[in-house]
Amino acid sequence: MYMKQSQLFTKTQKFAPKDEVSKNAQLLMRAGFVYKEMAGVYSFLPLGWRVMHNVMQVIREEMNAIGGQEMFLSSLQVRENWEKTERWRDDIVDVWFKTQLKNGTDVGLAFTHEEPITRIMKSYITSYKDLPCSIYQFQTKFRNEVRAKSGIMRSREFIMKDLYSFAASQEEHDVFYESAKNAYNNIFRRLGIGDHTYVTFASGGTFSKYSHEFQTECDAGEDIVYIDDDKHIAVNEEVYTDEVLKDLGLDKNTLRKTHAAEVGNIFTLGTKFSDAFDLLYRDSDEKNNPVFMGSYGIGPARCMGVLVELLGTADKMVWPKQISPYDVHVISIDQNAIADDVYDKLQKAGVSVLYDDRACRAGEKLADADLIGCHARIVIGKKSVDTQCVEVTCGTEETQTVDLSAIVDHMVAYKKQ
Ligand code: ATP
Ligand code: MG
Repeated sequence: MYMKQSQLFTKTQKFAPKDEVSKNAQLLMRAGFVYKEMAGVYSFLPLGWRVMHNVMQVIREEMNAIGGQEMFLSSLQVRENWEKTERWRDDIVDVWFKTQLKNGTDVGLAFTHEEPITRIMKSYITSYKDLPCSIYQFQTKFRNEVRAKSGIMRSREFIMKDLYSFAASQEEHDVFYESAKNAYNNIFRRLGIGDHTYVTFASGGTFSKYSHEFQTECDAGEDIVYIDDDKHIAVNEEVYTDEVLKDLGLDKNTLRKTHAAEVGNIFTLGTKFSDAFDLLYRDSDEKNNPVFMGSYGIGPARCMGVLVELLGTADKMVWPKQISPYDVHVISIDQNAIADDVYDKLQKAGVSVLYDDRACRAGEKLADADLIGCHARIVIGKKSVDTQCVEVTCGTEETQTVDLSAIVDHMVAYKKQ
């Protein structure tokens, strides 16, 4: 809940790393949020991990709200499982990291989890009474991506929230699918990118015409989409044809072509996986039917990267309130006697605090605070001694002067807002 900056092991860097081209990774590396292991592989340091945790918590709450049950599947995958769907083949899936056990058995590091979850559910789904159900996880995916130029938006090892749904029929599936779509819209709104994020029609697969992507408009995005601003929806370039536009009732002349990043993707899988694995349930007439499935992914790190791309500049970030690494950054300009007390009281009131108690120049402290980007900031300087007031800045609002005696109540109210 709290941290003295003098004890935080990460330090900010004055300059952007030379070998990094993406804006999000440059800022996050300078701020000490992530550490680059190699191209497309990043470790999350304390401040960055707190942001990730906040993003994941928003996603978790929305997945729980639609009945998702959280679990955690293994990364190591057995070959036979993936041969059932032909997805072990390198000509079909080109992102696998594969290796072998000491005894020569082939294994792969999961790039997604439809196959293993379908096999697991064979042990638990037998009757229509077991349906519908949905299961999700936050778990590391491995993908041997060719391109790795977008910082944490595209990495070779990344946490994905993936949810899998199981239903007795297309109708039952459709009801859940709509609730998931709503939950996704809630998530992106709560993450502060709702206005820039569009439900986007993309290629669907065997069982549905389209899948739905959630595309956030931003320059760093690797996808091209066509946006209808009035309807707040979009069409991915990959399915952009006259026929599709007609089908969706969209007019070419009102669409706007732009770059976007796919932050989420939801799919109707139909019976593709249940057929391959013989995942059947017995209906009320004692007849066996294949289970109808869906899959729903979000990349928390890609969301975090998109936030930096949209809200950050080269030297400054302001995290949305809910996502901020700490609720407030308390900055003491040589006034630790007062600041220690504020820090103490805020903690006790349940406000999380990063406290810059270091003995260094004001300019350095403020520049660091800009890079770290906590949503709220309290500056305690020389003036505070005489006036018994401190300066409070919340997000992009104007700086306010608040009485020291009222600062805790002020911040508690701010947190609740
Ligand atoms: P892309 O087309 O960008 O490669 P994808 O369509 O292959 O992504 P999905 O399998 O749909 O990705 O994954 C679900 C979500 O996981 C994506 O919407 C994205 O938010 C996230 N994601 C996918 N690949 C990566 C990656 N390499 N790094 C970080 N996040 C990723
Ligand atoms: Mg996708």
